[in-house]
Amino acid sequence: MRILIIEDEQLLADSIKSLLTKKGFEVDVAYDGESGKEYAELGIYDLIILDIMLPKMDGYEVARRIRKKRIGTPILMLTAKGELEDRITGLNSGADYYLTKPFDIRELLACINALLRRQGAYVNEIRFGNTVLDLSSAMLICGENSIRLSAKEFDVMRCLFQAEGKILSKEMILTKVWGYDSDAVENHVEVYIGFLRKKLANIGSNLRIETARRLGYYLEVCDYDSEVAN
Ligand code: CA
Repeated sequence: MRILIIEDEQLLADSIKSLLTKKGFEVDVAYDGESGKEYAELGIYDLIILDIMLPKMDGYEVARRIRKKRIGTPILMLTAKGELEDRITGLNSGADYYLTKPFDIRELLACINALLRRQGAYVNEIRFGNTVLDLSSAMLICGENSIRLSAKEFDVMRCLFQAEGKILSKEMILTKVWGYDSDAVENHVEVYIGFLRKKLANIGSNLRIETARRLGYYLEVCDYDSEVAN
């Protein structure tokens, strides 16, 4: 679960970051609106926490630009002003919820959980073809067969399941799983796709991870019965 914080008050941004990191989230921080917008446009985040008064580009504009790019990531807007008009401007610009500063940290966590739940991030399993990815146990299940995935295998698989058959580029998988500034390279993605293909075959899944040349990977349901060759 990856969260982006766009907030120019470093102390606040860093304390939210450390809190969320302790809760198990991957967190990136941008300290101005322009770089925040660029991060957000990567489309790799499950949630964006967005301040309004920001250098270079204000939060309203950031939200508008993100939505214009058809990025549907939930946005939790932070505002120092509590007036009705500001809230309306925020919601009109594409925010999903707002929190007035100063806020209680429990309130922030409750908002984050509610927004993540709403977009279905807290469902327990995702099904595709005849196969289920159990999100709480990281098990891949097909009928009576099941196999446990390693942490990275699970993250890659979750991306593919959530894409529901749409093509995901290697770059997108790399960024979503290993992070924006990690040392991992696209070869890592290929290696994990290889592991996952074996595991799908081992449990007799009718799912295939197909390669779209130069574009990336996607899940496909194969209707024909194919014996596991290796
Ligand atoms: Ca600010």
